[in-house]
Amino acid sequence: MSRLLAASVTLPTSTIPIFRTVASLREWRRKAYLEQKSVGFVATMGALHDGHISLLKHSLSRNDLTVLSIFVNPAQFAPTEDLSTYPRTLEADLALLEQTKVPEPSTESERITSAIFMPTVHDMYPSGITQDVSGQKGTFIEVKGYGHQMEGGSRPGFFRGVATVVTKLFNAVEPTDTYFGQKDIQQGLLLRRMCRDLLLSHPEPGHLHIMPTVRSPVDGLALSSRNAYLSPNDRKHASSLYATLNVCKDAWRDLRDKNLAIEKALAYLKERSSAAEADGVLIKPDYIHMNDPDTFEDVQTYEEGKAVILSGAMWVGKTRLIDNIILGNAEGILG
Ligand code: AMP
Repeated sequence: MSRLLAASVTLPTSTIPIFRTVASLREWRRKAYLEQKSVGFVATMGALHDGHISLLKHSLSRNDLTVLSIFVNPAQFAPTEDLSTYPRTLEADLALLEQTKVPEPSTESERITSAIFMPTVHDMYPSGITQDVSGQKGTFIEVKGYGHQMEGGSRPGFFRGVATVVTKLFNAVEPTDTYFGQKDIQQGLLLRRMCRDLLLSHPEPGHLHIMPTVRSPVDGLALSSRNAYLSPNDRKHASSLYATLNVCKDAWRDLRDKNLAIEKALAYLKERSSAAEADGVLIKPDYIHMNDPDTFEDVQTYEEGKAVILSGAMWVGKTRLIDNIILGNAEGILG
């Protein structure tokens, strides 16, 4: 169990109620139903940063009550990935949640997170869980045809783990509205589709909101819990992914040819990699893709205004970073 949190572990104190079991959260939720309160929901794996906090503020300002979950989901990590070292900063997370407030409409008071849901692995996976998909038993959710491209191309099984845990979280919280980040754009769109396919009512598909990526104001690096892995030298060069995507964006607009645009972007990244190497930092691209936001199919031809997801992943030393930009009309995707 080492770094995974057991139910018996003593938690740091928090003025916001923390629910460790599905049963206790359900009791809280029943009361919210009786009081006819809307419940916003933000799902996280903890190690909170301003990206999470922006989702939280959207939820706080649009709902009577807000639940934030912290759960590092084993099912979305491949056996070779960083489950055991994933940043866990519970004390700082709780402090940040206590500080995050928005004004309560038409009153003098303020809204704060109503409940923190921190279920145990056992509660979330009553049939048990192993990271090796071939050894898994029990019920899993797969959004067929939408989890093998883009990020899913590099992380097979990832979206199966995500869809499964988010379904469970939705079943426990029964959110009126829920907020996900554009930073993980394939995740948000896939989950919206899942809500539709499974006829979910909490949330209804139109109530799953995807909100813009929060970035470093200095160099545009997308905030991420995994940025904590970056050494100071790695950090100096980490924004080259976002810069590369922007080069690709401009080339797509000017050349209207996907292969040429990606070629230009990769040539730019090569230059940035050479500069990084001089600092002893190894940069390696994983992918740059351009996909249709509805079908997730590769986009080949330029159509004025048509939305395209330009996404990329790269390694900076031992840290894998992802990012994306929506090209064309993002209406219907964000918000
Ligand atoms: P995570 O804790 O990484 O699983 O992320 C929890 C939620 O926060 C997901 O919906 C992410 O897409 C979202 N998120 C992560 N980073 C950012 C960011 N920089 N800006 C906006 N949302 C983010």
